[in-house]
Amino acid sequence: MSGDRTEPPPRTGPVLGIYAHPDDAEISAGGTMAKWVAAGREVHLLVLTNGDRGSSDRSQDRAALAATRLVETKAAASVLGLASARSLGIPDGELANTQDVRETVIRRIREVRPETVVSVDPTAWFFENRYYNHSDHRTAGEIALDAVYPGSGNPHYFSEHLDQGLDVSEVHDVWLGWTNEANHLEDISGYFENKIAALAKHESQLAEGIRFFEEFLAKEAVELGEKIGASHAEDFRVLDLS
Ligand SMILES: [Zn+2]
Repeated sequence: MSGDRTEPPPRTGPVLGIYAHPDDAEISAGGTMAKWVAAGREVHLLVLTNGDRGSSDRSQDRAALAATRLVETKAAASVLGLASARSLGIPDGELANTQDVRETVIRRIREVRPETVVSVDPTAWFFENRYYNHSDHRTAGEIALDAVYPGSGNPHYFSEHLDQGLDVSEVHDVWLGWTNEANHLEDISGYFENKIAALAKHESQLAEGIRFFEEFLAKEAVELGEKIGASHAEDFRVLDLS
């Protein structure tokens, strides 16, 4: 959206992605994350669950799937050029916005000190009466927002972190994908290919093959891109907290 005088200057500082499942970041924001990496930003990923229910095969061993998905997460992060990719290992489908989870996420924010947090919109329940959002996705968005404020910037939240050498950390903007209230389209021309290449690393999820993602996500990204004269775009609800 260049040329828009109200557009703030691009951010250059670190980024932390906070998502529920191993492939959520790539599906929702893989192009944008690759673009930020190319612009020199340090981009970190925190996946909250282990994705161990991501299979319809009833003979699938869940612990084995969790192990596979962690390897896939790291491989996909490497394709995108991420600075780190970690998993909290919470069982898939059981994510809850608890004091313990918030403590871990706030600790990670205070370690990475992101200027930008990218996650998903917790208020998005229904998409065009066609499907509704996974509980883990909504909860991940809630956890991300609650960790940013009130949380990481306030010394009275988990003050033990300060005793351990960490300091409070203020996040300047939050980007929420999978939203019904997008206010920003990010031009990912030239980075859509990175998004698909990263997704291809999530082999355990490709029962229908990578073509499903190539076609479904390409259609979506092309349609969003057309709105801003770009070949591909991703949409977000961007909150400017600075
Ligand atoms: Zn997911």
